Amino acid sequence: MEKKYVYLFKEGNASMRNLIGGKGANLAEMTNLGIPVPQGFTVTTEACTKYYDDGKVVASSIIDEIENSMKYLEEITGKEFGSTTNPLLVSVRSGARVSMPGMMDTILNLGLNDEAVVALAEQTNNPRFAYDSYRRFIQMFSDVVMGVEKRLFEDEIDKAKEAKGVEVDTDLTADDLKELVKNFKEVYKKEKGEDFPQDPKKQLIESITAVFRSWDNPRAHVYRRLNDIPSEWGTAVNVQQMVFGNKGETSGTGVVFSRNPANGENEIYGEYLMNAQGEDVVAGIRTPLPIAQLEEQNPVIYKEFIDIVNTLEKHYRDMQDMEITIEEGKLYFLQTRNGKRTAQAALKIAVDLVEDGTLTKEEAILKVEPKQLDTLLHPAFYDEDLKRATPVAKGLPASPGAACGKIAFTAEEAKERAQNGENVVLVRLETSPEDIEGMIAAQGILTVRGGMTSHAAVVARGMGTCCVAGCGALKVNEEKKTLEVNGKVYNAEDYISIDGTSGNVYAEKIKTVTPEITGHFKTFMEWVDEIRKLKVRTNADTPRDAKQAVEFGAEGIGLCRTEHMFFAEDRILAVREMILAKTLEDRKKALDKILPMQRADFIAIYEALKGMPATIRLLDPPLHEFLPHTLEDMKNLAKELDVSVDDIKSEVDSKHEFNPMMGHRGCRLAVTYPEIAEMQTRAIIEAAIAVTVERGYEVVPEIMIPLIGDVKELKFVKDVVVKTAEEVMEEKGTKVDYKVGTMIEIPRAALTADSIAKEAEFFSFGTNDLTQMTFGFSRDDAAKFLNSYYDSKIYEQDPFAKLDQNGVGQLVEMAASKGRETRKDIKLGICGEHGGDPSSVEFCHNIGLDYVSCSPFRVPLARLAAAQAQVKNKR
Ligand code: PEP
Ligand code: MG
Repeated sequence: MEKKYVYLFKEGNASMRNLIGGKGANLAEMTNLGIPVPQGFTVTTEACTKYYDDGKVVASSIIDEIENSMKYLEEITGKEFGSTTNPLLVSVRSGARVSMPGMMDTILNLGLNDEAVVALAEQTNNPRFAYDSYRRFIQMFSDVVMGVEKRLFEDEIDKAKEAKGVEVDTDLTADDLKELVKNFKEVYKKEKGEDFPQDPKKQLIESITAVFRSWDNPRAHVYRRLNDIPSEWGTAVNVQQMVFGNKGETSGTGVVFSRNPANGENEIYGEYLMNAQGEDVVAGIRTPLPIAQLEEQNPVIYKEFIDIVNTLEKHYRDMQDMEITIEEGKLYFLQTRNGKRTAQAALKIAVDLVEDGTLTKEEAILKVEPKQLDTLLHPAFYDEDLKRATPVAKGLPASPGAACGKIAFTAEEAKERAQNGENVVLVRLETSPEDIEGMIAAQGILTVRGGMTSHAAVVARGMGTCCVAGCGALKVNEEKKTLEVNGKVYNAEDYISIDGTSGNVYAEKIKTVTPEITGHFKTFMEWVDEIRKLKVRTNADTPRDAKQAVEFGAEGIGLCRTEHMFFAEDRILAVREMILAKTLEDRKKALDKILPMQRADFIAIYEALKGMPATIRLLDPPLHEFLPHTLEDMKNLAKELDVSVDDIKSEVDSKHEFNPMMGHRGCRLAVTYPEIAEMQTRAIIEAAIAVTVERGYEVVPEIMIPLIGDVKELKFVKDVVVKTAEEVMEEKGTKVDYKVGTMIEIPRAALTADSIAKEAEFFSFGTNDLTQMTFGFSRDDAAKFLNSYYDSKIYEQDPFAKLDQNGVGQLVEMAASKGRETRKDIKLGICGEHGGDPSSVEFCHNIGLDYVSCSPFRVPLARLAAAQAQVKNKR
């Protein structure tokens, strides 16, 4: 049998969402439930995919199917498409599997032309209504289908109102609108070089094609990338008989939710307007009324309406967002869908639906988007203020939340001004580890360069500070302390506001608010924890972050990057001394100064964890990152160390590497300078003994060796670690358990994971480096070219944010299974940024990892994603 590309509403149902889209599936389901739905049909998502496969043409067989369905619609309505006496009018709307802003808007009143409008006027005895419908159709069709600027039509309306000396559209008479239609058609002809199409069939096919086209527009691309929607899904198109809410005082239109979408209260919520079409409610020319008033105005219709709302909510077992029209006293439902809601509302609704027995806990946890939880944990802009603001630029949404403050151009300045009580946003070309204190002090961080795993992004997410990275439209002059955007220059006295959730940058002050977390959040997360099998740890380098993460439900630390402790003011000098030491003896002297500080850090971290596991990684980054870069800093260091500036300069030069990410870093540092690993191991074990003996916590440190590519490297460093640990325990006369393991972040390590597992008690997948090295592009530079890759549809997602399951994921899966072959009980986790991405968490669950580790503010999100993975794919 030939494939079917068009389904009548009565032929579909709710389970056919992939084929007929969300809107189509719900229209079909409502039809089957006997709810009054204006009838119509859906052109499938497969027709959209075929349109692209066929080189952007709609196949003639599909056009035949559409025409047959129109015939059916004519039969059941008793009207005729294109008739000069009794015309059938339809609406055309897009409808993908999931609702997708950015796609083509609705076209209403399709089927009208110069003759049908006369018939409509006679039939309804309402020429004003008929010509108003026609002018709306010309406007919508010209704008969304033919790309004629909306403004040109708005201008015509303004001219008409001016000529009549009236203020609002509704004051224009039938004759005025007739004249307007004439003018609109002239605009069209001037712009398109041809007459406005009079053939309804042409209007219909053009409109359906325009919906298909809109699947590929830039706004849709951006939305898909943000929401993980693959481009091969395509969109369906719904063609539905028009019903009119603007036929007089017994007609009306409304948008309603079965519960309050802002706070989740179980109350009907929405607005309606009598004698109006949908767009009037949105356009704000007239003020809509709260839906409750319909009860007074028309109790019979209201009762019918409420009964249907209750039926729909019960049927879908979720809050519904519905569009209704009343045509001359008859109620119609034009669409229903699971309503979008705030995070607070999502949690309340999910908990309420479990408590009233509608949903099981498993079903309820699938109703909340993991990414939504973010908004409960970070400050947001005050809605009213945000509506009035206009972004001046857009960067990458690197760390969620909202921040507002005066511009600080250096970390020192940010720190100093924050100490004086000022709110500042740190604006840098890019950040480096030296900026850490300024980053902590700032409300938010904005960088011109760098991607989603740049220093600024990673550190900001770790701290839960809002960050917009890679905002290339800004020109920052760090010397002059100016920021230029769109030709306007701002300085340290100017306010800037950044939205780390959208990437928007505003050159103005916008008020921020901290959303309240209600008790439903807690109840919901308890269910999440009951269900999930995958554990969730955190990436934390400081006791403060560890404590925060524990509050958010972390079950230990999966990655403590010890290098971040090296930058604190009280130790950077000793670190530099250690790096610049010319002899082993000098280096050991410097390391001795760092030891007590590291030990104290670890004690505080263990205490924050209260006995939960902590994976502590030995020093990883290239050493030059710790060295001074400006002449002034070099001079200071020379003075402190009592050497010449030239000495410092030549040492810094000698540490320069062409490719530091693939240079002298990771375990290579410990191979060259085993004394660094010795000092760190000593600090880790001494701290564990102190905490175990003094505080009574059972701490089992997991010492992690980074950037291993060969088992012999691991063995070499592990021998240093074990020897030192044994020495320390001998000295202290106390034993503690500890584990030694490695990161798997170099492809060769994944390929040889079976032999590496002989020496490793655990693996932690460093998917930041693993992605970098598998793709062969730099994690700090990729953002510069990835946009072109998205535009050309080579990639749909940033592989540093969402794990590339086909490539990098294969290496992870293979290494996990090879590791288990050698060591059955090997502990497996992931600590790259992907540990906080919902779809990547699901992947980790599916391949049987023991835990994911992510920044503290992503812990609740990862817990939910892990529970959802368990519900979808039990293990
Ligand atoms: C990684 O590479 O995934 C990782 C967690 O380590 P880092 O980001 O510190 O290189
Ligand atoms: Mg790494």
